[in-house]
Amino acid sequence: MTQPAIYTTVEQMRQALRPWRNAQERIALVPTMGALHAGHISLTHLARQKAARCVVSIFVNPTQFAPQEDFSKYPRTFEADLAKLAAAGVDGVYAPAPDVMYPQGFATTISLAGPAIAGLEDRFRPTHFAGVATVVAKLFTQAMPDVAVFGEKDYQQLAVIRQMTKDLDLAVDVVGAPTIREDDGLAMSSRNVYLDARERATAPLLHKTLQDCAARIRAGGEAAKSLAEAGKSLTAAGFVLDYLELRDAMSLGAPDPTQRHARMLVAARLGKTRLIDNIPVPLA
Ligand code: AMP
Repeated sequence: MTQPAIYTTVEQMRQALRPWRNAQERIALVPTMGALHAGHISLTHLARQKAARCVVSIFVNPTQFAPQEDFSKYPRTFEADLAKLAAAGVDGVYAPAPDVMYPQGFATTISLAGPAIAGLEDRFRPTHFAGVATVVAKLFTQAMPDVAVFGEKDYQQLAVIRQMTKDLDLAVDVVGAPTIREDDGLAMSSRNVYLDARERATAPLLHKTLQDCAARIRAGGEAAKSLAEAGKSLTAAGFVLDYLELRDAMSLGAPDPTQRHARMLVAARLGKTRLIDNIPVPLA
């Protein structure tokens, strides 16, 4: 098993990628914040199907965390991450220090509308997507990948990045990858380590409730009523619900009955841990 090369500066990475680009090899980028699990690794597998070369970035991006959020205690497991990426056969790992991404005097932020103000995550994390979009735009211009792979787990984030890439004519093919789950249905997340044993036992109800609610709507149940009932059962189980909504799968606006798919999205807190999940809902 060969160790992936590690780049810590923009110049190091560009130098490493140049010969691949000159040899017409397609390059895929998988942006992450580390604390890697099987969900992240699945993105690298998809990346390697789409491109000859795969680079994974590991950067806990301070600008996407609000002051009261978990930036300082976000899990950092660099050595274990490297071992997983070596096993996955990635070519390079880009791990810039914060001052490489945000040197003294950094003064630019991407301003977003469209899916970024759909009234989902943005209602609870109003500065989050500007931080995400700015760091992803930087990663794209630093690495100039042909393809970038993002998880559907962060569904609104994927929509925001697609919109930004299109609007700014960034020459990157943005690919969405399905959510990888634990055996009991809980979506894998670096933040699941925050759950205590009781919360961990309750957490799979989030996905189960989405599935049950989607099944009821598919069977002809009224969406608003089914969602309200699902919300109540989550609250009864101990979740504090931020939102549970059915949206158009592309725009994230109100569901469009002329489209084949809608998306059901949820965010809820269990104790101190905030969980998000979403599933496709085929419309009749
Ligand atoms: P993060 O490190 O949490 O910023 O996530 C990095 C990338 O991995 C994002 O594109 C996420 O959507 C994706 N991701 C996180 N969890 C999962 C999962 N359970 N399945 C698939 N992709 C995921």
